[in-house]
Amino acid sequence: MTMQNFKYRAAVFSTVILLLCMGMDGRVAMKERPASVYEHTTLALVWFQTSAECRALYYQAFNTARLILDNDLRSQSNRKKRAIVFDIDDTILDDSPHSVMLLKANKLFPYRYDEWIEAAKEEALPGALEFAQYAASRGVAIFYISNRTTKMLKATVRNLKTAGFPQAEESHVLLMGDDGSKEDRRKSVAANHEIVLLLGDNLNDLSNVFENKSVAGRFAESDKLREEFGSRFIVLPNPVYGAWESAVYDNKSNLSEDEKDAKRKSVLRSY
Ligand SMILES: [Mg+2]
Repeated sequence: MTMQNFKYRAAVFSTVILLLCMGMDGRVAMKERPASVYEHTTLALVWFQTSAECRALYYQAFNTARLILDNDLRSQSNRKKRAIVFDIDDTILDDSPHSVMLLKANKLFPYRYDEWIEAAKEEALPGALEFAQYAASRGVAIFYISNRTTKMLKATVRNLKTAGFPQAEESHVLLMGDDGSKEDRRKSVAANHEIVLLLGDNLNDLSNVFENKSVAGRFAESDKLREEFGSRFIVLPNPVYGAWESAVYDNKSNLSEDEKDAKRKSVLRSY
């Protein structure tokens, strides 16, 4: 084989290799990237926004809450004024349009969150309004404990009022200052009230025992408190985000998107 022949064969070989690496449209194949950092939330958001099952779970939760309240109202125990504590986002108001915007925009939370809260456009979730209005009509104090930040107080009150929620006034809306735990805010309500029910889409809305726990730790605490669910605690469905997701990431806030993806896959069980 002459040198010229060798060079010709080498050129043909490398061209074939290059073509094999290219798609039909001529682009060089690269490591496939998801369309959005929140691509993994797509199905959960579709479920949350379109499944009648999700809608039914909200009705089920608030119907159960009413049964518990009615049962409590029949009891004649001499005690402090009754109160009910609601979380806000994805418990009584629908925050999912903001999550969908993040998915589409390929931006991480809290991108444009201030603007979304300021718009005060969140709508009541199924059954939430009727239950809150019923409880208020029976003389129960309503408190809204949310980890929206205190600078969002006026917009939050405005949104609750627009949606029709009772007792939507600043003294009944307890937002997050320096402390992400809701425990002190719950205690401040309990100082003058008997809390009949707590409702939330995150177990941290119900008790501080779940805070910063591992997946196994959260399981263990929920097993210990199993009698409270459907009696003093009401949980709403949130498959999109929450403390459950943080637990999968070992409660670390500094993981890369690739590391989070690997963690999500590593916790799944097969057979
Ligand atoms: Mg929530």
